[in-house]
Amino acid sequence: MKVLFTGIQPTGEIHLGNYFGAIANWVRLQHDYVSYISVVDLHAVTIPFEPGEMPRRVLDLATTLYACGIDMEKTTLFVQSEVPGHADLTWLFNTITPLGELERMTQFKDKRDQFRASVNVGLLDYPVLQAADILIYKGEVVPVGEDQVQHVEFTREVARHFNARFGDTFPECAALLTATPRVAGLDGESKMSKSKGNSIGVLETPEQIWAKVAPAKTDPARVRRADPGTPEKCNIWYYHLLVTPEPERRDIHSGCTTAGIGCIDCKKVFHRSLMKVLDPIRERYAELSTGRKKEVEDRLEANAGKCRAVARDTMLEVKGKMGLKKVWRI
Ligand code: ATP
Ligand code: MG
Repeated sequence: MKVLFTGIQPTGEIHLGNYFGAIANWVRLQHDYVSYISVVDLHAVTIPFEPGEMPRRVLDLATTLYACGIDMEKTTLFVQSEVPGHADLTWLFNTITPLGELERMTQFKDKRDQFRASVNVGLLDYPVLQAADILIYKGEVVPVGEDQVQHVEFTREVARHFNARFGDTFPECAALLTATPRVAGLDGESKMSKSKGNSIGVLETPEQIWAKVAPAKTDPARVRRADPGTPEKCNIWYYHLLVTPEPERRDIHSGCTTAGIGCIDCKKVFHRSLMKVLDPIRERYAELSTGRKKEVEDRLEANAGKCRAVARDTMLEVKGKMGLKKVWRI
């Protein structure tokens, strides 16, 4: 079986973009691949964060992933900073990465603009750490949202560079997208993002979600209830595509174009469809975070041990090929 690697940052609550853009694929694919999923806390500290909150964020994220359907037996879910090989391999990859490659990365430019006061070297180096995350497990399949495709392509370049310079070591990986690889935020402009405050969280209550959906922007040309609308110009329509099945979805579409259904009723249908997906996740989360907290913690610790062993083998191979001493004490 091929190796699958992917990661998610403990920067906030998992939202519909994460779920429909990435996690839904992780749940499906875990049966067909040797699956590693990392809570990437070393990535999360490249933007402003509160140290006191980090342990809870990490555990919450892992628990939410299990609640979303990640299987404790099938997937090795672990915390990145518990496996030192990721940072070690990053350093070695830094030495074969041209600076210009990193400066042109879209995510770097976005986050630099978002966090102007605190741009650090780690933010620039983010894609190199991501390449190390994937390649230390010799990952071949990387299921992500559209915003991460550029980083996966960069990872392929790093593998090519390394192989050409030091001999065949790493496979060439490929990004794998869902049918909805870019979910827009509630603002209807940027992508839904944990750190932008434009998201619907998978653990939010039905009331909290309705409070966000009810005032959300729709087709701006549809001013009055009697005006026909264009679903393709409405954010809520794209949300329907995530959760509302046929034939109800078709009715929503024709109802909008003929002014047969108003925006509030359309939003109510979306809310009802969404709750069918989110109710079971919220219930599983409640169960895991109360009665089974210790089980989650123990599993993360055991998985980190397993990852350290795999990372150790790759590091010994890499160091040997680079002419460095083959010593590794973890
Ligand atoms: P942050 O704002 O802190 O970067 P994020 O919401 O972008 O958080 P990440 O942890 O960076 O979440 O990404 C986790 C996974 O979710 C990645 O595979 C990413 O491509 C995917 N993803 C994130 N946002 C979206 C979105 N709006 N639509 C589709 N996929 C997304
Ligand atoms: Mg992100």
